[in-house]
Amino acid sequence: MYNTYMIRYGEIGLKGKNRPAFERRLMGNISRALGMGFARVQRVYGRILVESDADPARIIGKLSKVFGIVGISPALRLPLTEQAICDGALAVLKDAAARVQMAVGEPLTFKVEARRSNKQFPRTSPEINGLVGAYLLDNFPGLQVDVHTPRIKVRVEIREQNAFVYADDIPGVGGLPVGASGKALLLLSGGIDSPVAGWMAMKRGIEIEAVHFHSFPFTGEKSLEKVRDLCRILTGYTAQITLHVVHFTDIQKEIQRSCPEELRVTIMRRMMFRLAARIAEDAGALALVTGESVGQVASQTLESMRVINQVIDIPVLRPLVGMDKHEIISRAKVIGTYETSVLPYEDCCTLFLPKHPATRPRPDQVLEAEKALDVEDLLAGALERTVAENIKQ
Ligand code: ATP
Ligand code: MG
Repeated sequence: MYNTYMIRYGEIGLKGKNRPAFERRLMGNISRALGMGFARVQRVYGRILVESDADPARIIGKLSKVFGIVGISPALRLPLTEQAICDGALAVLKDAAARVQMAVGEPLTFKVEARRSNKQFPRTSPEINGLVGAYLLDNFPGLQVDVHTPRIKVRVEIREQNAFVYADDIPGVGGLPVGASGKALLLLSGGIDSPVAGWMAMKRGIEIEAVHFHSFPFTGEKSLEKVRDLCRILTGYTAQITLHVVHFTDIQKEIQRSCPEELRVTIMRRMMFRLAARIAEDAGALALVTGESVGQVASQTLESMRVINQVIDIPVLRPLVGMDKHEIISRAKVIGTYETSVLPYEDCCTLFLPKHPATRPRPDQVLEAEKALDVEDLLAGALERTVAENIKQ
């Protein structure tokens, strides 16, 4: 029944002079999410108004994945007549009432809250409250007025061309519109953590490209397909994601052949960071994003992170740094990546994992061990065999 969606966007309001740019970005992202031609998106009265005749469940589903949106109110856009407004309010009330959970015997309480910016309209806001309230009481059995803590608030807005009536405020994902904060490169494994890290970076307005280190044939086509699927799920929150697939096998073999076992993970991750930094540079990405959190595995101690980080000078964002595994898992379930992440295909890291990786690698030891490698040659070989794919929904 709804044909209009009122979008609230909180944090953007704080951005002062940047506000118009943020709003344009958010509107662009909304249009893209809904599909061009399916909706009209405009900015009015300090909010964004989406008009669409498509299925409300579908529209709300899409809007609730657009970063920057704080709240969504499905509304009816009505002609400026008292009868249309009263009938619209009744329809909105009935719809909202069907979703309210009430205790047995608890009366359904409501209140009408009218706002009139169009002073040509012949009734004042208090008059509209009275008029619409009386109409609802007459036409909806068992209803009671409660002006302090009503279960349902029916809002009526009288604007220049139309009246809008709505009751619900569905929470959005919040954050900032993707693209507003520049671009970063996500190191995307097939695991649980990195897709969540990517999502959290996107939530702060960061557009992401992804890089995956693939160890074909030790890791097969299915593990790569899983990474593509994870990208695809993440594109539900953004337009598209460029996925760089790096052929990592030669580097891993070389590390296994030439470096002490307990330092292999450290060195492997240093190679990943070097490659990622170069891909980021070419892609115009200003930071890397990883799914690391402190203390989770050997390579995620502060000592390891320091030694791994030393090979690059681009910032590394670790959005999961303070999260426990169970918090990461519940987030993965909410954003929809968990089911795919737990599919059993091997990741390249686990295959070459030593039994006792160093948890406190020393920088001098690692530098010494790396002398056995022709680092530049290995990097060049891997970059040459890197393929960029464009992942869309
Ligand atoms: P995840 O669940 O994201 O795989 P993890 O807890 O298994 O993380 P690690 O295997 O130590 O931890 O990886 C740490 C981070 O390094 C990952 O979150 C990811 O950002 C990056 N990473 C690991 N393996 C790969 C890979 N094959 N390709 C791209 N990035 C990777
Ligand atoms: Mg992993």
